[in-house]
Amino acid sequence: MTRIASHRGGTLEFGDSTPRGFAATSRMKLEEVEFDVHPTSDGGIVVHHDATLDATTDMTGEIARMTLDQVRTATIRYSAGGHPLTLEELCSMYADSHVNFRCEIKPGADGMPYKGFASRVVTMLQSRSMLERTTFSSFLLRSMDDLGTATVRPSLWLVSPPVLRQLGQDGVIELCTVHGIREIGVHIDTADAALKASFLDAGVEFGCWAAHTTTQIEKALKLDAKVFTTDRPSLAISVREAFLAGGER
Ligand code: FE
Repeated sequence: MTRIASHRGGTLEFGDSTPRGFAATSRMKLEEVEFDVHPTSDGGIVVHHDATLDATTDMTGEIARMTLDQVRTATIRYSAGGHPLTLEELCSMYADSHVNFRCEIKPGADGMPYKGFASRVVTMLQSRSMLERTTFSSFLLRSMDDLGTATVRPSLWLVSPPVLRQLGQDGVIELCTVHGIREIGVHIDTADAALKASFLDAGVEFGCWAAHTTTQIEKALKLDAKVFTTDRPSLAISVREAFLAGGER
């Protein structure tokens, strides 16, 4: 069965990376919660999409240049008053949940990996007994390398449409081989059966991201992708239930 990952806690249903979205996702009939992490200047780890607070909160500034207390004063838009969570808080929220982690290692505002960050995230998850329930992801090959050094947990490379276009499937497969990457995720609109087959033939598992509409979700299901992320987890659950019941057209 194709797995569902609630993207940033279900952005289109609950706001972007909000406490209420993550809490709701922990009780949903799906398999994974996707989230992104950034370091603070004083050693904290914050669950937030962008490297800055600018786009989705009432504050501005680079998370990596702020203290944890400063970041936590931000109110997230469309969050019903929620503030950014720490990774520890997310671990507590999911300790008794059946939903597992899909943790994306983000770059800083300059687009480059934070030094030593992947291993710090691994250590934190291990200390909270969540590492064995975590799959990692990143768009950055350097972060994939860092993850490969820090943990034996599965990590998937997120391949953007421009990267896929530029490298082609053969180029992507070659880099997977060089970097020891065993799973990739592509944008749902760039996915098709032939592409999936090429990766599976090369021993690389295949998933999709950004399946937010019924059409996109059905496409991921029909492709029998390993997993897809979605901003609309409730919709994805109902579409998958109908699909599994044979109700798809
Ligand atoms: Fe992400």
